[in-house]
Amino acid sequence: MSMWYMNDEREAVLATTREFVRDEVAPRALEVDARNEFPLDLFRRAGELGLIGITVPEADGGLGMDQTTNALVLEEIAKACPVLTVAMGAHILLAGGMLQLLGTPEQKSTWLAPAATGEIILACGQTEAVGGDDQGEYTTRATLDGDEWVINGGKVLVSNIGVANCYVIVAVTAQQPDPVTKTGLSAFIIPADTPGFGVGKDENKLGWNGSATGSLSFSNCRIPKENLLGERDQALQAMFVSATAEFLSCGPVSLGIAEGAFQMARDYSMQRIQMGQTQFDRFQVTRHKLVKMYTQIESLRALVFSTYAQRDAGELELARGRLLKVEGSRVAEEVGREAIQIFGGVGTIVETGVERFWRDGKVMAIGGASAEALVEAVSAMMRKGLI
Ligand SMILES: Cc1cc2nc3c(=O)[nH]c(=O)nc-3n(C[C@H](O)[C@H](O)[C@H](O)COP(=O)(O)OP(=O)(O)OC[C@H]3O[C@@H](n4cnc5c(N)ncnc54)[C@H](O)[C@@H]3O)c2cc1C
Repeated sequence: MSMWYMNDEREAVLATTREFVRDEVAPRALEVDARNEFPLDLFRRAGELGLIGITVPEADGGLGMDQTTNALVLEEIAKACPVLTVAMGAHILLAGGMLQLLGTPEQKSTWLAPAATGEIILACGQTEAVGGDDQGEYTTRATLDGDEWVINGGKVLVSNIGVANCYVIVAVTAQQPDPVTKTGLSAFIIPADTPGFGVGKDENKLGWNGSATGSLSFSNCRIPKENLLGERDQALQAMFVSATAEFLSCGPVSLGIAEGAFQMARDYSMQRIQMGQTQFDRFQVTRHKLVKMYTQIESLRALVFSTYAQRDAGELELARGRLLKVEGSRVAEEVGREAIQIFGGVGTIVETGVERFWRDGKVMAIGGASAEALVEAVSAMMRKGLI
């Protein structure tokens, strides 16, 4: 059945993605998870196939296609290997989004164009050990010294570290960031080999294994004045907009996670035979669990693609974009959990490959922003009468 949001162009991109996932991504997915190793080969290949820079304008080296096409790609990849979409998101939506919104033509041609084709990898460092969701507390500071910015401080839980060629980071540049005007933070481009810039180890995490997530340090790290991205003290608006793109993307990624888990559980229940009957035919509770999972998936699909359609029509979708991450992570977690339950004992074995969907769904509710902080942000929009 063709969905209402499909067209010929999207079908063509989806067909390329399906082939890539079937032949190259799916066979590597368990290994990436088990080794917690950034899937560099898959990332480069996705770039070669044009699947990374889909929404980057043609003038900046991308394909200039719409957001819905990107959502289809992310959903398809997440069905097999969610972490690859996480790497792509941190790279092109967070860091790439900041470059696209704030970059000069020169900065874009140096960093964004090769990023759109996956030739170089970007990371985006915002989170700090103290500030977390609240950027008002950031302590990483940049001061201008002649023709150079000098950066001191550190970031935590940044993805794509070590493999990235370039880091887009934010630092405090005002004496005191202004909580009312939200000014005082600036964005900077840090090439990976900059002296005084340090990269920590990949954390050993619950999920998103292979996202190469860890800390960054700045110790009298000097970069040329020209590496300021956008206007001094004015980074917050671009952080908000690029983060919204990333929250939106958590909708199709969560959808893919839930579908991956559901498909495995449905197939297993129809193959497992006990007392001469399949599990599906024997237990009403299994059948009903699967129908509930299917219903959750289809409800999420409706929310995802109607929100993306609005985004493609020019709406920013600030509130619904955030809700895609909130609702998406909830569905991914719940469907992942029930899939393990349907598998029973073998579902708890890592090599079975089903429990990782639940782990990845759990991290989806935190990585990038916690679901609670997003609900709080949406409630503030409600208070202002925006929704
Ligand atoms: C795997 C992974 C990858 C990541 N990749 C990146 C990256 O590439 N770049 C980057 O900059 N960061 C990245 N992060 C960091 C991520 O964005 C933060 O973990 C997230 O924003 C939450 O911040 P925190 O961890 O400091 O938690 P805190 O801010 O300490 O929050 C802890 C808990 O408090 C509650 N809470 C916090 N704020 C609010 C609020 N406003 N309203 C209601 N409740 C609230 C929530 O329950 C939340 O879970 C990543 C995180 C993970 C886990």
